Amino acid sequence: MTLLKRLILFTSLLTIAFPYHAFAYKVVLDAGHGGSDPGAIGVGGLRETDVNLDITRKVRQALLDRGYEVVMTRNTDTFLSLAQRVDFANEQQADLFVSIHANAHSSSKANGTMVLYYDSAYPQEDYPASSAMTQLTPYSKDLAQRVQDGLLAQSGTKDLGLTPSAVYVARMGTIPSILVETAFLTNTGDAALLASDAVRSKMAIGIANGISAYEPPLFTDVLVHWSRPAVLRMKNKGIIEGVGNNYEPDRALTRAEFLTLMDRVFTFDKLPSVCTSTASVTSSVYGCDAGSATKSYTDLPATHWANAVFTKAGKLNLLQGYADGTIRPNRAITRGEVAYLFNQLLQMTSPNKPSSTKSAFDDVPTSLWSAAAIHTLKDKGIINGITDSSFMPDQTMTRAEIAALLDRYVSK
Ligand SMILES: [Zn+2]
Repeated sequence: MTLLKRLILFTSLLTIAFPYHAFAYKVVLDAGHGGSDPGAIGVGGLRETDVNLDITRKVRQALLDRGYEVVMTRNTDTFLSLAQRVDFANEQQADLFVSIHANAHSSSKANGTMVLYYDSAYPQEDYPASSAMTQLTPYSKDLAQRVQDGLLAQSGTKDLGLTPSAVYVARMGTIPSILVETAFLTNTGDAALLASDAVRSKMAIGIANGISAYEPPLFTDVLVHWSRPAVLRMKNKGIIEGVGNNYEPDRALTRAEFLTLMDRVFTFDKLPSVCTSTASVTSSVYGCDAGSATKSYTDLPATHWANAVFTKAGKLNLLQGYADGTIRPNRAITRGEVAYLFNQLLQMTSPNKPSSTKSAFDDVPTSLWSAAAIHTLKDKGIINGITDSSFMPDQTMTRAEIAALLDRYVSK
């Protein structure tokens, strides 16, 4: 193979190994112990908390250098409870959690490196895992193996393998989580390694290499969410977008987000504008004063990211502004509103006869303004109730629910 061919092959392999991401994966690093809890005390008085914090800082720097976003549960010698560490991690919308420790044993002969993770095949009755973690085992185990491999390649320590464990920080989170036991403070050989700044640097590089080798699946926060199949299908079709590597499935959908999705599905520019007659100049409906200056809203400046889609929606007479001069792009949209607007768009693209007026839901009387739309979409199999008898039209719609709705519509 010529040098050039080798170079091209190498470059294309790199592209496969490190596909471009418009966002940085986010890592939570947890230096074990701290403050009033020094952890294990090893040979020569070496304190676990100090070793853990130094290695964790070095891992952080290595990951930052590679473009990761990194947060630490602690970056000083302070005490944190286990629950505080996990609560912190759960709030971060991160992709993975790595707790860094050093080991201790009553026998000074014990030595080596191991990585702990929660394994749903080995549950411990007295230490139940979070419901998320019971389903995250394959991901945590993959991460654990890669970090174990990365660490061993650098540390020169004995391979003690992966250890299924019910330690708190590995079982109570909501993202793939592991606990690294770098080496034994209570073993003379291991302690000498842990006492060496140069070896700690190598260990940190090894841990960072393992984290880099782990490829977080798309949208960490729907890994175990009911909406995952629909979310992935709609992402593949280019209809929905996440926020970094998260989808935020349980957050209420905003009016601006809803219009953006509808524009991707129905292509507003291809639909007939209803705002062409002079009569519409007096309309209070958004955008229907086409021909004069575009109607503006106090909370929708030209710089707002959704300004363009609101303008397009206005030409379709889709959304009305409020009496106080606002259009409230960031307000949550209700299930009734979604049904009404979605049905409006369906009628514009493929007019069909109204569906049966028989009410399918106890809380959707036929007199309700959105009832016809809800029944039409229900008959078409596009929308479901919260239960068989309840639609909850005034409840906000979550981002998971809109993904499921669009999936049902697009898959027809
Ligand atoms: Zn520890």
